[in-house]
Amino acid sequence: VYTYFLKISNIITHSSYIIQSSNKMRNLARFALSICRKLTTTAKLSWPKELLNSAETFVFDCDGVIWKGNSLITGADTALTYLRKQHKNIYFVTNNSTKSRGGYLSKFASLNVEAHPHEILSSSYAAALYLKGLGFNKNHRKVYVIGESGICEELACNGIAFIGGPADSDKVASFDHDIVIDREVGAVVVGLDRGINYYKIQYAQRCLNELGAHFVATNRDSVGHFSGEGLWAGGGSMVAAVAGCLEASAPPPTVVGKPSPFLLEHIMRVSGIGDPGRVVMVGDRLDTDILFGKNNGLQTLLTLSGVTTMQQLTSPSNHIHPTYYIDSIADLVPKE
Ligand SMILES: [Mg+2]
Repeated sequence: VYTYFLKISNIITHSSYIIQSSNKMRNLARFALSICRKLTTTAKLSWPKELLNSAETFVFDCDGVIWKGNSLITGADTALTYLRKQHKNIYFVTNNSTKSRGGYLSKFASLNVEAHPHEILSSSYAAALYLKGLGFNKNHRKVYVIGESGICEELACNGIAFIGGPADSDKVASFDHDIVIDREVGAVVVGLDRGINYYKIQYAQRCLNELGAHFVATNRDSVGHFSGEGLWAGGGSMVAAVAGCLEASAPPPTVVGKPSPFLLEHIMRVSGIGDPGRVVMVGDRLDTDILFGKNNGLQTLLTLSGVTTMQQLTSPSNHIHPTYYIDSIADLVPKE
């Protein structure tokens, strides 16, 4: 039944281009489409202006939406420029913790895409914000980092002491010698770390099990588009390695990236946005981006330019349905 109505929805959507010269017919098609949307829960975004008129703020994921690795997704820059001309607020929320906000600003600049410091919210920044909220910038407790320079830069920027990170990437654990841990560690932050090793996992394990340190995860993404081609193991694989050291009854890590509401609450607070229904979350992952939007009452737009395929979206086993889907954010620019 789901597939049947989805097909009808798409036929009406495409028919609308042919009959759009007639206002009455167009309105009729829109009405039919809205009925189909209710039945199918997801429809292809065929009238971008309908979404543009109902939203004032767009929150974009980055990997698989704006770029893939170091390659800009075709037309993404044009779409962002168009939204700015329409006076829409723009934010970039990324779970990729390998860069700080400054690192992402440089990346946007290298791709010739306009972005401003207040618009960028990375999970590395979220980790620092969360720990700042716990007083780590004042209580002199340290953070052990399994992650890259992005997390370390954000912790330093927010006055939080840390150890580990890239500095421990070459260290080797030996069963002949205990690893001496710093007893002032009060939190372990785990994010994507291309230098993860057994030494870091053991250090984190002792901080969590012996010191009762807070366990903070930037995200639990299974995979990501970190290069132009193919998928790479995501931050979730590092989090799982550390979580595997804990008792089954231990509480799960605090996730500060998507789908946790932490960064959205920050956006709402600093920007003064009152109605989450006027915000659109645009992303390529169902279990983080779209879930993040749905959990927080946002409109959601899945782009098929990243990790999610049409087959996965329409699979009967998928229970996370965005408001709309689109091939690429380039299609946000109306063609008429
Ligand atoms: Mg993504």
